[in-house]
Amino acid sequence: MKAMKSVLFIDRDGVIVEETQVDSLEKIHFIPHVMEALREIRRKTDFLLVMVSNQDGVNTPSFPYDDFIRAHERILEVLRGEDVFFDDIFIDYSLPSDNCPGRKPGTGMLGEFFSDEYDLSSSFVIGDRSTDMILAHNLGAKGIWFHEKSMDSVPSSVVLETDSWLEVAAFLTNSDIKTHRKASIERETKETSISLSVDIDGSGQGAITTGIGFFDHMLEQIVRHARVDVTSSFRGDLEVDEHHSVEDVALSLGKVISKALGDKKGICRYGYDLLCMDDVHAEVSIDFSGRPDLIFDVDFTRDCIGTFPVEMIRHFFKSFSDEARCNLYMSVSRGNAHHQAEALFKAFARALRMAVRRIPGSNEVVSSKGVLE
Ligand SMILES: [Mg+2]
Repeated sequence: MKAMKSVLFIDRDGVIVEETQVDSLEKIHFIPHVMEALREIRRKTDFLLVMVSNQDGVNTPSFPYDDFIRAHERILEVLRGEDVFFDDIFIDYSLPSDNCPGRKPGTGMLGEFFSDEYDLSSSFVIGDRSTDMILAHNLGAKGIWFHEKSMDSVPSSVVLETDSWLEVAAFLTNSDIKTHRKASIERETKETSISLSVDIDGSGQGAITTGIGFFDHMLEQIVRHARVDVTSSFRGDLEVDEHHSVEDVALSLGKVISKALGDKKGICRYGYDLLCMDDVHAEVSIDFSGRPDLIFDVDFTRDCIGTFPVEMIRHFFKSFSDEARCNLYMSVSRGNAHHQAEALFKAFARALRMAVRRIPGSNEVVSSKGVLE
């Protein structure tokens, strides 16, 4: 069987050349190290290089086509001179008001990539705008957000934020990049039976279904917002109550994530998230230190959400922390209890995602001790 191709969809303005209406040769200013980085990526990887650019209003009096193409051809000529070739180039000339399906973040120009020939889950969009990162999501690819890091909310497709082409090259030429960190476990007791597989480099697919409605809704938040793929089967003694099921799912999830992280080389280790949800504000930080601890500064405003006792939420995170061997700090303001719980699970998921993220080009354990255990 032929290997599927992975693609780098690369924006032009703000990524290859500085962001402006490039309608003359004088306005061409290359981003530092772009040629060196793309040449390195070309040499060391098998990514196809595809340029995808919105060029607003080319062919209008304020942006004549001849001016655009003259500058564009010069950009490509300079890149070719540095041994950087694009396998394909897609340019949308419409204005935002045209609502053209080919305009990013639409995928209208890129239909051919939705085929068995391409592995979009191992492909990346490199762009400087959030619309580029939405394009990554729409393609089922990952995003490299090329901008100065800010406090803006980060779209879930983003795996790297940087304004350095050298960092992009280090990230993409790391041979681990396509290696998904996966693990599976089976756990069988008289109270529950669970089989659980995770891919922590996934895209948030799959579900853990226990039959406890509210709890399943919270587990869904973890899968989607941490972008962990899961495959699971579960049976619990719900005829007794929900306690064993919640506890054993948490223990299993903590253990399987710890297993998938292995020796934790090259991971960020720390993650945090602040988020609001309607009337509440949640704060979660996590450290995969190798030691368990939980600070749970939460005052739920009800004892139960539906029929689900809120005391089990603390127990869930305590059990997770014990098996994942991580420190967890969690707090949420007072407010609607459903919102309190959901905000905690979402913030936990997002902090988890940040903590397990790989540092571009690093194979180091982030610890002065040299180990995280
Ligand atoms: Mg751009």
